[in-house]
Amino acid sequence: MDRIDFRSDTVSWPTLAMREAMASARVGDDVYGEDPTVNELEAAAAALLGKEAGLFVSSGTMGNLVAILAHAQRGEEAIVGADAHTFIHEAGGMAVLGGITPCPLPTDERGRMDLAQIEQSIRDDDPHSPISRLILVENSYGAKNGYPIEPDYFTAIRTIADQHGLQIHLDGARFFNAAAALNLSPAQLAQDVDSISICLSKGLCAPVGSILCGPQPFIKRARRMRKLVGGGMRQAGVLAAAGLLALQQMPHRLPQDHANARHLAEQLATIPGIRVHLDTVKTNIVFFDLTADFPGRSEPLAHYLQQHNIWISPTGPCQLRAVTHYWITAEHIEQLLTAIRNYEG
Ligand SMILES: *Cc1c(COP(=O)(O)O)cnc(C)c1O
Repeated sequence: MDRIDFRSDTVSWPTLAMREAMASARVGDDVYGEDPTVNELEAAAAALLGKEAGLFVSSGTMGNLVAILAHAQRGEEAIVGADAHTFIHEAGGMAVLGGITPCPLPTDERGRMDLAQIEQSIRDDDPHSPISRLILVENSYGAKNGYPIEPDYFTAIRTIADQHGLQIHLDGARFFNAAAALNLSPAQLAQDVDSISICLSKGLCAPVGSILCGPQPFIKRARRMRKLVGGGMRQAGVLAAAGLLALQQMPHRLPQDHANARHLAEQLATIPGIRVHLDTVKTNIVFFDLTADFPGRSEPLAHYLQQHNIWISPTGPCQLRAVTHYWITAEHIEQLLTAIRNYEG
């Protein structure tokens, strides 16, 4: 890559192997179900995640949207973390396009909703109320340093969902980061949810695409919803070819990104005026806060770093986020740390 870009793992470029696989991909018309490479990718993802079927979509946002539309109807409600991606970073799609009301609940420092609060927010059968239908979970949890939530949380939510006839959808944009950090297979970590969408284009480096997985009849409905929102693609095998390599070649190297992020967080915490919630840095995201002792605020700091060809996201007046990925090396981490240590405001 031509810049040292910590803003997100979405910025990661495809690898050379991906570009070569794209150039020679076998293709067909995927809206007719005839693209062999898309079909192979959907089957491979479903097998890896322990689900019956998969659906290739253009983005994580689309994967979550078509999942929600396939699970719930107008007038129904989805319980969701108040800082979850599906609630605050997807343009309100479930409400705008689906007539589905979010029911946001606070999350703890690991991105977990309180189980008792989930139960209390499930509606009685009363014409005044929306109908509770869905629980939305996320792993790793983006807003909490990408915390990899342990499987017992999902098992507990499964019990609640089963008691009340609710479905569970997992936003797994960085699910492979979570599985790697917990040392679990993706299928083990996904076993308690009905559906899951994963991003191929974040830490896994594919240029475009996500996959939604779940039971066969659910995926059939989601396929209709994908068409409804204009997401039916034609010779998408060109993209799926990169996606296959993303699934096959990238998950095993994610621990390197995690080690880089951990080192960055630990070193940042030693710089006067910088605060990091070290306990929750276990994958590839580091949020850090600038206190009054730091010689500046986040926007000017980010601007100064750009002059050193380092890009980083200000996420608040005194907060920034750095994300590690395939194209960030240990050397880049040192460059970022040195630049911040030398910053004088
Ligand atoms: C990135 C991300 C998504 C989906 O993002 P797209 O940019 O639409 O692919 C969904 N959930 C989380 C937690 C994410 O980080």
